[in-house]
Amino acid sequence: MPQPIVRFTDVTKRYGNLTVLDKLNLDVAPGEKVAIIGPSGSGKSTLLRALMTLESIDEGLIAVDDEPLTHMSTRDGRLVPASASYQRKVRGKIGMVFQSFNLFPHMCALQNVIEAPMQVLGLGRKEATERAEELLAMVGLGEKLRHFPSQLSGGQQQRVAIARALAMRPKVMLFDEVTSALDPELCGEVLRVIRRLGSEHNLTMLMVTHQMGFAREFADRVCFFHQGRIHEQGTPEELFGNPQQERTQAFLSAVN
Ligand code: ADP
Ligand code: MG
Repeated sequence: MPQPIVRFTDVTKRYGNLTVLDKLNLDVAPGEKVAIIGPSGSGKSTLLRALMTLESIDEGLIAVDDEPLTHMSTRDGRLVPASASYQRKVRGKIGMVFQSFNLFPHMCALQNVIEAPMQVLGLGRKEATERAEELLAMVGLGEKLRHFPSQLSGGQQQRVAIARALAMRPKVMLFDEVTSALDPELCGEVLRVIRRLGSEHNLTMLMVTHQMGFAREFADRVCFFHQGRIHEQGTPEELFGNPQQERTQAFLSAVN
């Protein structure tokens, strides 16, 4: 594998007595699309949230582009806790879209997308607006720039959320069950946007999903999570076509 863009090394996360990530290892190559599947409570969201620095970890190391997320190396090679500005820089390479769209309700689609680039990246309004218009057009919402979240369908809101994450120019995009809150007929439009992003931009993507059909055609690699570990992984053909582990087989026959 080329130099991984994301690297989890022996990552452990606990809530009290509950071990949610158990010495987890995962390397993701630049541009790779990784689907993460597995039963509820197996640690899938915690993995993405830890990468987004929304959760701390207890042991191990998470690195992006070879830079540890929560620690930085000193000149003499020691690791010390990272400063806030260092963390912001590393985290800035990552964008995340959640199951609940989390749009600002009092802002129109365009404002939702320009807010962080202006506040965090320091872009001027004109530049931020031009870029936001492009992104909203790309997700099929060029005609809805001035609509508020309450005036948009769930699928449209989720596409605004995707445009908003992309506006920060991430190298890695995380999707956590982004279609689970949507009616089936609205899932397709969101998945189409994600598929296009994957093929037209060299984005690295980690996607937690229950949609096995989508995982199968979209992912380069599928990881089956069980009890805070990657229990089995492989290409979609391998994992869906010929799962080796009993637990994987049981999960797949229950969801299909
Ligand atoms: P998944 O996304 O695979 O369904 P999660 O990563 O959300 O699983 O959660 C893994 C486990 O951690 C679950 O048992 C969940 O109840 C627990 N958990 C998640 N967040 C917290 C929290 N803030 N406090 C305590 N337990 C939590
Ligand atoms: Mg989850």
